[in-house]
Amino acid sequence: MRAYSSHKDIIKLVNKVDSVGLVPTMGSLHEGHLSLIRKALMENEKVIVSIYVNPMQFDNSSDLKKYPRNIKNDLQKLESFSDIFVYTPNDNDIYKKKEKKKKYNFSQFTKIMEGAIRPGHFDGVATVVEKLLRMFNPCNAYFGEKDFQQLILIKTLVKELKLKVNIIGCKTIREDDGLAMSSRNKLLSIKERKIARNIIRLLKKAKQLYKNSTLKETKSEIFKDAKLIKNLNLEYFEILDLSMISDFLEEEEEIRAFIACKVGKIRLIDNIII
Ligand code: AMP
Repeated sequence: MRAYSSHKDIIKLVNKVDSVGLVPTMGSLHEGHLSLIRKALMENEKVIVSIYVNPMQFDNSSDLKKYPRNIKNDLQKLESFSDIFVYTPNDNDIYKKKEKKKKYNFSQFTKIMEGAIRPGHFDGVATVVEKLLRMFNPCNAYFGEKDFQQLILIKTLVKELKLKVNIIGCKTIREDDGLAMSSRNKLLSIKERKIARNIIRLLKKAKQLYKNSTLKETKSEIFKDAKLIKNLNLEYFEILDLSMISDFLEEEEEIRAFIACKVGKIRLIDNIII
């Protein structure tokens, strides 16, 4: 592993390589990130891992400020990997002075849930991912299903802009009690961490209920249940048939349940196939 803050140095090193994989991250690395990196290493000769907390995708400045950052620790975690180049840019390496995020108008699927609650978030994500893809021109780029709408956004972006890269979705990695791994989990107190277990419980309950109940009944039962949990604030709970939404993505012929909630002040999201 070697770290670079200039993309030009990395480009020189991967210029003659057969296949390059890209794993964009915001750091504070955990096993979820590492699973993407391992998959990328199995499928590519060299892998570029970017670590950059992208200000353009935050819809509120206090969230950006408190987002966990630990570059020293991140580099330590990546130390033992060979064949990876870590890209650690500053804002000036990514954006010009006073540059604004690009406005995309791609997929209806990015207007609901996260798109509705966090205005401008997906434009911010797409802006930085488009830059990274054009910068490094990878054969494959890896994104987690944990951020499922983001994965669909990137697949749409690549299709619409006709970029030559395969977007690979990767399974959600979970803690032993089922909580989806997330950099934000580090911000939870011990009490909140216990409350956060309810997220996967609610998703699994919805999966059970949906077998014998209507969508409306299932959602209403989940909202009722969530209301009883102290310090857990449900922002949305949705069950969506993805074949209705992303008709060009054959692999998304599935029904998924999506949840977003605040545990204390920490916002967490998750989803499962049901
Ligand atoms: P982030 O650093 O949170 O922006 O995440 C970087 C990438 O890792 C994104 O593609 C995420 O979807 C993915 N990711 C985050 N958490 C997990 C997880 N628990 N399992 C699998 N992928 C994840």
